[in-house]
Amino acid sequence: MSELASPSKVINILKQFNFHTRKKFGQNFLVDANIIQKIISAAELKQDDLVVEIGPGLGVLTEALANRVKQVYAVEIDRDLEPILEHNLKQYNNIKVLFEDALKTDFDNLILSETNEELGPGDKSYKLIANLPYYITTPLLMHILENKFNIELIVVMVQKEVAERMSALPGKKDYGALSVAVQYYTSPEIVCRVPRKVFMPVPEVDSAVIRLRKRKTPPVNLENELLFFRLVKAAFNKRRKTILNALEGSNLGLNKEEWDALIKKTGIDPRRRGETFSIQDFANLANSLWEFQNNS
Ligand code: SAM
Repeated sequence: MSELASPSKVINILKQFNFHTRKKFGQNFLVDANIIQKIISAAELKQDDLVVEIGPGLGVLTEALANRVKQVYAVEIDRDLEPILEHNLKQYNNIKVLFEDALKTDFDNLILSETNEELGPGDKSYKLIANLPYYITTPLLMHILENKFNIELIVVMVQKEVAERMSALPGKKDYGALSVAVQYYTSPEIVCRVPRKVFMPVPEVDSAVIRLRKRKTPPVNLENELLFFRLVKAAFNKRRKTILNALEGSNLGLNKEEWDALIKKTGIDPRRRGETFSIQDFANLANSLWEFQNNS
């Protein structure tokens, strides 16, 4: 059980250190030990796990993690939290806090420089667990996924709508470029929904805990990953249009007749909307496009 996660304890800490939460850093601190417990259970922690936490804040989740794993590396942007974290976590010798912007952190490098253990396919991996700041959830997750860091499991608290977008299936209103990207790299699973009242200060939105299990191999074969993601973005940029009209207006370099022929050749009806496309449909079309570009 977390020692720090209760409204009275958090209020006392904030008062004691005269700390004023900063909206610009998305500082909504957890004050509910049950939610911490749910995050911990979802992370399937083992005693020899290495864990990276983004945004330890007052150290509420950090402490709960440190009680269960070998080592926690916590990356926090706000240096003003340093005295609080030092005070709250002083009895733990398996927590290292780094003060930097997690958007710029090379997490594999961080683990490598701290442990001297080689990372790579088949080598040691680690887990990423966090109550993420809302204002940069998507860029942070894209930073983590696109860089293909050697993270085996991600368990994060995010805005409820973002969790729904990440796990949405084709044809659903929440399905979009984020769903495709997250589902290409991981298998997402919403663990629980979390009411806004468990945070201090109370945010304007509800949250959800989502678990992203990193795929060992991609779900589709791609000739060119970058081209696949450009195509997905172009399709969802004009999500209410047919795939033909959405792609015709994109900067992928084909005219309408060429797109029409290419989409049909792929076995797809050009009148369909991109929002109905499965990852496999996007992959098929991206591979046809790659072939077209490299043979013409
Ligand atoms: N883990 C704490 C908890 O659950 O109470 C705090 C969570 S709070 C929603 C988000 C935390 O992320 C804050 O401590 C904030 O200062 C930190 N943060 C915001 N932007 C960050 C960034 N770019 N890099 C690292 N930490 C960041």
